[in-house]
Amino acid sequence: METDLEKIALFSATKQAENDRFRIFVQESDSEAVDRLVSRLNRSVTPRINCTDCGNCCKSLMILISDEDADHLSAHLQQPRAAFDAQYLEKGSNGTMIVNRIPCHFLAANQCTVYEHRFAGCREFPALHIPQFTKRLFTTFMHYERCPIIFNVVEELKTEMDFVRDGSV
Ligand code: SF4
Ligand code: SF4
Repeated sequence: METDLEKIALFSATKQAENDRFRIFVQESDSEAVDRLVSRLNRSVTPRINCTDCGNCCKSLMILISDEDADHLSAHLQQPRAAFDAQYLEKGSNGTMIVNRIPCHFLAANQCTVYEHRFAGCREFPALHIPQFTKRLFTTFMHYERCPIIFNVVEELKTEMDFVRDGSV
């Protein structure tokens, strides 16, 4: 199990071609069988990784916010929505809303200070529990270097699927 973000970054820099090949390999595999494997690996890997030692998603991701998310957190913070929006959000002309700072305002000492009231996107990430993994390969591999849970699940998935890694033949 690798959790050192610097080591993961160094390793992933050498794995671009292999990962491109693995994405195609997974894409062409049976989607339901892949979901069963990913689900099992996710249940095995996630409890062995302490997100409060990492916090990298909260330090590096742009978080999309829904109205419901903003209503919920502003109510918890006992802050009127207009003031909450002005302080924490940026709104696009097409109605999208994002947290207006990276790292996220609500991260302190690597922990989410509003954990029970965090946004839906935060609850979902890294999304390995969600079916149809083969339909989310681009986004999953976008976070391969960012998230040790994804990194370890993907590396274990290569082994479980008997994928031939670069340099192993
Ligand atoms: S709300 Fe919490 S979980 Fe979501 S990005 Fe901010 S600190 Fe992280
Ligand atoms: S979900 Fe991934 S990136 Fe976020 S804190 Fe946990 S291990 Fe780190």
